[in-house]
Amino acid sequence: MTNKYHSIESLVKENQRLKRLEKKYETLRIKELHLRIINEFATSLIPQNTVDEIVWTIAKNTVAKLDYVDCVVYLKDETGTFLIQKAAHGPKNPIELDIKNPIRLKIGEGIVGAVAETGIPEIVHDTRLDNRYIIDDASRFSEIAIPIITDSNQVLGVIDSEHPEPNFFDDADLQILSTISNITAAKLMQAMAQDQLKRSNEALEQFAYIASHDLQEPLRMIGSYAQLLERKYQDSFDAQGKEFLSFMMEGAQRMSCLVRDLLNYSRTNKKIENQQTVDCQLVLERVLQDLHFSIKESNALIESDKLPIIRGQFSQIVQLFQNLIGNALKFQSDNIPHLQIRVKKEYAQYLFSFSDNGIGISEEYQEKIFQIFKRLHNRNEFEGTGIGLAICKKIVDSLGGKIWVRQNKPQGSIFYFTIPD
Ligand code: ADP
Repeated sequence: MTNKYHSIESLVKENQRLKRLEKKYETLRIKELHLRIINEFATSLIPQNTVDEIVWTIAKNTVAKLDYVDCVVYLKDETGTFLIQKAAHGPKNPIELDIKNPIRLKIGEGIVGAVAETGIPEIVHDTRLDNRYIIDDASRFSEIAIPIITDSNQVLGVIDSEHPEPNFFDDADLQILSTISNITAAKLMQAMAQDQLKRSNEALEQFAYIASHDLQEPLRMIGSYAQLLERKYQDSFDAQGKEFLSFMMEGAQRMSCLVRDLLNYSRTNKKIENQQTVDCQLVLERVLQDLHFSIKESNALIESDKLPIIRGQFSQIVQLFQNLIGNALKFQSDNIPHLQIRVKKEYAQYLFSFSDNGIGISEEYQEKIFQIFKRLHNRNEFEGTGIGLAICKKIVDSLGGKIWVRQNKPQGSIFYFTIPD
């Protein structure tokens, strides 16, 4: 009797233990599934760089991976008072990147507007019981709306999904979509900062172009009239007057170089439309011809590998080589310049290196020197305007490559750049 009782009791216990294990297993299984979905979302977002690419990836994947009927991503407009539908995947918008009549919602309006206002995610189990629900073309009985919110609590937009059945969404949906929304926020912040940078760079370049273009004419006038003064009235000036005049001519000359280089910089197209095949060997020959006098004067030794044929624009590759070789000859102390040009094929790109035995560039300036007007020396030490390397960077960027510099051993600099094959 006791034995039987004991065995029933142990069976019950065993049963309870198994149930607990089963529950634990189920929780782990769901967790594993969530992690896998989040991982897939994060991976699919990695190659997306623009705001459009990001929101469409989210809308499409939410439907595909979470088994939802639809998904809409809203983003705040620039005034911060409206939400605009930026991506919508589902039966109403089956075609990607095509939204028919994008919805515009005032912040605070409807369930989505409320979530954008409070920054708190919401599940509505039965939309018939929620008077904020706005009927679009067909009634959906449940809805989930998750704010896209940054680390600093700034709401960028809302991810929203509706379903024909009531009580469709639960806490698991809320958790998983909230994590996805956090990843989206981080990615969107990055894309928005890039957009902003791109716009301000374009505005700056436009300004540089207009300013340098329009400055040319009055500058030419100052230069020519100063020359006329010197030629015709030289004798009427005392020593100080002559000195002032020469300062004036020197200033005009310098400014004219700056304006010319700036104009050159802003004319260097970022996106090269009509790319050709360019034989770098011919480019080198042309540059060595152009720099013939400085090479001869300095007794420079220039060695080079056999250079490949790449895709680009001949005149721009000439500019790139000319700036790098010109600098290697210029930034020298007492050495006879020795320049080596090497090239290696690496996977789908060429890696070029231009090394010299000049004065070198200390590590702290190795990034800064590619900025426009950045120079490390004054004009008395080395002539220049600080635009050459900014142009090199623009050219290499436009070809999809990278440019950087390192210290050479025992002395000097090595400039590296890559060009996709
Ligand atoms: P610029 O030659 O007109 O000064 P660049 O944009 O070509 O302008 O170069 C920017 C700065 O980078 C230079 O003023 C110089 O300080 C440094 N630099 C460029 N090339 C070299 C080099 N080969 N060796 C040492 N310093 C260099």
